[in-house]
Amino acid sequence: MNQEYTVDPSRLVSPDALPADAEEISLRPKTLDDYVGQEKAKGNLRVYLRAAQQRGEPMDHILLYGPPGLGKTTLAGIVAQEMGVQIRITSGPAIEKPGDLAALLTNLQEGDVLFIDEIHRLSRQVEEVLYPALEDYALDIMIGKGPSAQSIRINLPRFTLIGATTRAGQLTGPLRDRFGILLKLEPYSPKELAQIITRSAGILGIPITEEGALELARCSRGTPRIANRLLKRVRDFATVQGDGTIDEETAVEARKWMDIDEMGLDELDRSLLRAIIEMYGGGPVGLETLAAALGEESVTLEDLCEPYLMQMGMLTRTPRGRCVTRLAYEHLHMAVPRRFDEDDGQQSMF
Ligand code: ADP
Repeated sequence: MNQEYTVDPSRLVSPDALPADAEEISLRPKTLDDYVGQEKAKGNLRVYLRAAQQRGEPMDHILLYGPPGLGKTTLAGIVAQEMGVQIRITSGPAIEKPGDLAALLTNLQEGDVLFIDEIHRLSRQVEEVLYPALEDYALDIMIGKGPSAQSIRINLPRFTLIGATTRAGQLTGPLRDRFGILLKLEPYSPKELAQIITRSAGILGIPITEEGALELARCSRGTPRIANRLLKRVRDFATVQGDGTIDEETAVEARKWMDIDEMGLDELDRSLLRAIIEMYGGGPVGLETLAAALGEESVTLEDLCEPYLMQMGMLTRTPRGRCVTRLAYEHLHMAVPRRFDEDDGQQSMF
């Protein structure tokens, strides 16, 4: 039975970057005007950018938070571009020792942007070095050991730190407090994703109709990275199966061929829902039990399936475990148990 539920984890609909996404750099918008959606974050940034430019000073430090693939790195690049400075890109796990951070900071030029992805994964010692750098543009370095050790202070160029995290709650209080600007990125609407797909198709020279773009957008799980990835896959399909143009029909056929349904669920998502229904009567069931039944890691289910299934209103997390909703039964064309008639179930967000 487990076998039936086991699926390759390098999924087309994963929001994390996969090796095949290398091309995505060329698809990154370079200006705020090209950056689709996120109107609130963009509106705020415009004001802060203009103020910093007028004062002739670097931007305040910025924390971007939200799920993977929503455009945090892209936005950091745009800030650097609009300020006319260089950007250095690194990530929390890549900065292993305080010395690694010191090397990065001392190599910055006045005004530069330092982008640290997954900033919640910085170690404590590295964080301690970061505090004076953020507050006073200074590094405190210990020279020597024992009684003769002394601390010297090195001045740094004024720079802007842009931190990105998928888990704002995991950031330590002192680190969070040192960011002057906090911007939350939200999942994109199908209309916005269709705009992103049409723009990417233009850059890649892929003919696509409005309906074709919207069909792909609807199953992109609110995430531009997935939208761009699906576009490239469907391009191959359209080239082999049709005249190369992605219209609604090609998009639907390609989606089915990729085993992604009209709501953007893939086989792993559906297996998860089916397992809760068929093996645990619709839940509640604990995450570990479910992971064992599916032959998957629990983090895979928690990070890659559950957020979207919950957003779509098909899954709920209760203190006693995971439960499916009426919508999950309906989506899978399975008989809805009588109990849902009494308690109304959960409604979809869309
Ligand atoms: P994150 O850093 O949040 O994981 P990225 O900035 O790497 O996400 O974005 C992933 C891809 O999605 C980029 O290559 C970019 O082309 C595209 N993208 C993200 N946000 C937007 C947007 N608002 N408009 C257009 N394309 C976007």
